[in-house]
Amino acid sequence: MSIPTSIEVVDATLFTSVDPVILAGSACAVCGAHVFPPIESCPTCSSLDVETVALPTEGTVWSWTTQHFAPKPPFRTDEFTPFSIGYVDLGLVIVQGWLVGKTQWAIGERVNLVLAKAWTNESDTVFTFGFEAVT
Ligand SMILES: [Zn+2]
Repeated sequence: MSIPTSIEVVDATLFTSVDPVILAGSACAVCGAHVFPPIESCPTCSSLDVETVALPTEGTVWSWTTQHFAPKPPFRTDEFTPFSIGYVDLGLVIVQGWLVGKTQWAIGERVNLVLAKAWTNESDTVFTFGFEAVT
């Protein structure tokens, strides 16, 4: 899939970069907890001393499922095909996201962060993040 030079994403606050794609998280300076998406206080120790950090782009499938029915609004799809969602362990934090490229996965399978087509807005493609199997 070719990525256009101007990349429209579903929510820019989820990323520190879209080319290359890197997710934004929060890191607590007091206890070291990491969270995704970024927030302004630590959910573990309540500290306000948190900063936005770039999260690792490779992880392993922690759990997954494949949906065989279309998501209800406000979620959008151009045309429905069964899709997988899962939790991916990035080491610092477990992130829920789309698992793209196939519908059968294995716990512990290695995956990489990618941009994935969310929907098309008139002629513009809107991207979100996903994870695909490391080949
Ligand atoms: Zn903390």
